[in-house]
Amino acid sequence: MGTIKVQTENIFPIIKKFLYSDNEIFLRELVSNAVDATQKLKALSSMGEFKGELGDTKIEVVVDKASKTITIKDKGIGMTAEEIEKYITQIAFSGAEEFVNKYKDKVDKNVVIGHFGLGFYSAFMVAKKVEIFSLSYKEGVKGVHWDCDGSPEYNIEDISNKAERGTNIILHIADDCEEFLENAKIEGLLKKYCKFLPVEIKFGTKKEFVPSGEKDDKGEDKTKEIEVDNIINNPAPAWTKKPVDLKDEDYKSFYHELYPMQFEEPLFHIHLNVDYPFNLTGILYFPKLSKKLEMPKDRIQLYSNQVFVTDNVENIVPDFLTLLRGVIDSPDIPLNVSRSYLQADGNVKKISSHITKKVADKLEELFKKDRADFEKKWDDIKIFVQYGMLSDEKFYEKASKFALLKNTEGKYFTFEEYEKLVSVNQTDKDKRVVYLYSTNKEEQHVYIDAAVNKGYDVLMMDTMLDSHYINHLESKFKDTSFVRVDSDTVEKLIRKEEDQPSKLTEEQIKQLQPVIEGVLPKEQFMVVFENLSEKDAPMLITRPEFMRRMKDMNALGGGGGMNFYGNMPEMYNLVVNSNHPLIARLLNETDVEKQQKLAMQTSDLALLSQGLLKGEKLTGFIKRSVELI
Ligand code: ADP
Repeated sequence: MGTIKVQTENIFPIIKKFLYSDNEIFLRELVSNAVDATQKLKALSSMGEFKGELGDTKIEVVVDKASKTITIKDKGIGMTAEEIEKYITQIAFSGAEEFVNKYKDKVDKNVVIGHFGLGFYSAFMVAKKVEIFSLSYKEGVKGVHWDCDGSPEYNIEDISNKAERGTNIILHIADDCEEFLENAKIEGLLKKYCKFLPVEIKFGTKKEFVPSGEKDDKGEDKTKEIEVDNIINNPAPAWTKKPVDLKDEDYKSFYHELYPMQFEEPLFHIHLNVDYPFNLTGILYFPKLSKKLEMPKDRIQLYSNQVFVTDNVENIVPDFLTLLRGVIDSPDIPLNVSRSYLQADGNVKKISSHITKKVADKLEELFKKDRADFEKKWDDIKIFVQYGMLSDEKFYEKASKFALLKNTEGKYFTFEEYEKLVSVNQTDKDKRVVYLYSTNKEEQHVYIDAAVNKGYDVLMMDTMLDSHYINHLESKFKDTSFVRVDSDTVEKLIRKEEDQPSKLTEEQIKQLQPVIEGVLPKEQFMVVFENLSEKDAPMLITRPEFMRRMKDMNALGGGGGMNFYGNMPEMYNLVVNSNHPLIARLLNETDVEKQQKLAMQTSDLALLSQGLLKGEKLTGFIKRSVELI
């Protein structure tokens, strides 16, 4: 009999409450302890300190619904009575007490959420009583039995009936945790947390068919059903191996092992392997990404020495990297702390920037090694690269060497190549290079065609991030503007000459303005006068680049949640050519009714040429035309 020396009378309920939502981690903690004990024994054996037979070192997890227990058995180093006193009742309990003292007054539960490694102690999150049966590997020691019901009192006694080396932990499951007595639940948890632990873990048995050695009537091999151990884990996952020992197929099959529900092949992978100044291994995969930015379903998994920690790597790696898949394993990421602490941690920052650099390096290598192949993959990784370039300055710098621009003909260019391509033909009168782009090849076909016929090149910018990306590139490129191909008539897209002098005085423009404004809905059309040539149309409809961009940005949630622009109807400019004779006639028309009709007719023609005249308006136009003829 003994008493655990804790100041807080009963810390168990507190811990239970704190970690309630996370109570399933008890299994991970106990199985990891069993793995550690096994690994330690193997290490002692290889050093010659342990001379006995290692034998079968499988760890076994057993659920007994009748006796309401879960048992975790290992054949590791075991513990003597003194060691249990020391490691379990003193160290483990004092660690738990420290935890409680530190956090019991914290109102904000989130401070301690996540993965507080309570180790052995976490058993009490699901058990009303815990027993240990252990036999140390040391020669001449006695077996020992310990039990504790969650109060500070515990029992410890020598036993003589533990024949096998190692430790059995028996959890007597609490009444409110009986869901853990379901085999499926435990198997699920083992597969989640223990899938890649380095020692084999057995959970029950399963049936398998094997050749029986006999032949049937047709002379074919007969099979027989046998029972085999149901092994949960792969003790030697790909990321723990050396890249030279792995083939492309190995990486692919590991991908499917990680994500059994994922049927598409990854595009390529990066094997991470760092041992200085921190320890990190892992494999990252590039999946095919759509043009939309979706919340990734199969996420990067974080491990610590092959123990699953989380698949929520937010704040641990930069956001854009969460679009990738794969595993990161690092004992140097402090796992027992809150996320806000993680963010500030120096190691985490280093790891994060290291991964960013590696990813950029890999992309650059692929680009340099096989440009054609890189171009083939570009559409599938574009949104990832864009996201990275938008959110990480260092990544932008690296990626600006291999990021590609694709034109409407499907040709790819680096930033440098593209500048060379268009700078001569597409520089305007103010010495700015104008990059033309399209967001939809079908809808903007007429405009693309006109621009291409004029010798211009048109880029495809059709992903969800493109409107942000364009703004970003404009801030990076010198004297460059992006203009959507349908934002003006082809003549005006890239203004190469000074405007013609105006034939209308300011006074006359002021006089005409309200007349024209009167014929179209104000909230949709802004009337602007421009000094075009007499040969141009009297009125034109354009969609100003800046207005459309605001709308695009808003659609992406850039409007501060107000969605102001999103509710706005499409905005257009009605450009009035002040040099056109028809406009002069409009000005000189003294009959108000006639003047109005003329204005309407002219603006309807402009709408018609853009396919914007529909329904009732179109009918009205046709009637009016007939009258006029
Ligand atoms: P940690 O594993 O972080 O040290 P734990 O509370 O999980 O903390 O365990 C405390 C100690 O108890 C371990 O360091 C180990 O020495 C001992 N221990 C726990 N489980 C076992 C086991 N299955 N076999 C041998 N020793 C164990």
